[in-house]
Amino acid sequence: MITCQDVNEWLLDYLSGELSQESRNAVDQHLSACPTCVAFVHSYSMTISLSRRLAVQPTPPELIERIQVRFARANRL
Ligand SMILES: [Zn+2]
Repeated sequence: MITCQDVNEWLLDYLSGELSQESRNAVDQHLSACPTCVAFVHSYSMTISLSRRLAVQPTPPELIERIQVRFARANRL
């Protein structure tokens, strides 16, 4: 079973479809049991699609970093 940290690290590849099938399955399995990560995936993919819609630029790395920091903090609670 993978950890929330693994999901955090794999998420970009997961959302862009670059993760291996095996890893995708592991992430899917984790998501089915972890509301924290589901919420994280939602805000993450929403941020990406929002920034795609609202601006021509890609998601700023510092924004992704901020989300990841917030996620890591939420996981420690
Ligand atoms: Zn999780």
